[in-house]
Amino acid sequence: MTARGPLVSLAAALLVLGGPRLAAAQYPIFDAHIHYSRPDWDAYTPDGALSILARAGVHRAIVSSTPDDGTLKLYERAPKIVVPFLRPYRTREDLSRWHGDAGVAAHVEERLRRGVYRGIGEFHLDAADVDAPVVRRIAELAAERDLFLHAHVDAETIEKLLVRFPKVRLLWAHAGMSADARTVGRLLDRFPKLWVELALRGDVAPGGRLDPEWRARFLRHPDRFMVGTDTWVTSRWEVVESATRDVRQWLSQLPADVAEQIAWGNGARLFPAP
Ligand SMILES: [Zn+2]
Repeated sequence: MTARGPLVSLAAALLVLGGPRLAAAQYPIFDAHIHYSRPDWDAYTPDGALSILARAGVHRAIVSSTPDDGTLKLYERAPKIVVPFLRPYRTREDLSRWHGDAGVAAHVEERLRRGVYRGIGEFHLDAADVDAPVVRRIAELAAERDLFLHAHVDAETIEKLLVRFPKVRLLWAHAGMSADARTVGRLLDRFPKLWVELALRGDVAPGGRLDPEWRARFLRHPDRFMVGTDTWVTSRWEVVESATRDVRQWLSQLPADVAEQIAWGNGARLFPAP
């Protein structure tokens, strides 16, 4: 028996059992929300972290890290897999105060000279701080270089960012975490420069069943959604594989062409490999 024989017959058997829905389960994943931050470095070498992504079927991923050196460690090992985003945080303490610190804008501007980044973020921000000079400067830098901003913000704040900085493409982390499907859909209708990733959104498919409200938005805007894991603490690396399996489970409940775009196609189109 050749090495391929058993695989081919397994695939054929699954095709009979699963029909067209199986295809979604096999799609490569573009993960729009990975961090490789300082505490992760002791637990996982760059190759160890990359092998976790590979086992999960994540073929490419947006990576940002605190500090940014973590992103560059992964990027240098795997430039065709890692889509580097420049996180403005030098330390974890910057998370809550970066928008008020002119040093952050200088730090971002200096790092951007490397020319490898495809976006700035993920960052956290409240609506009241959208007009801070540091935020404006970072939005200018993004517009000049055609970079995405990856924003972990609520619905009010994403709307304000989109109105203030109409030239910038926004990737909305966690679909705002608390924004419901209707709100997300309304914003996608109104703002063509908004994309949405769904890391940690268990409400998309409670108990594994795709929610009808979310399904309707995916069908209306199949080109605007991506999936993600968010390794925001080191322990999250242990669940990348199972979280990605859960995502494939709800993707398989969508029409195959829509599932393919959300799983892989949108990320691959927006961030072509170098
Ligand atoms: Zn995150």
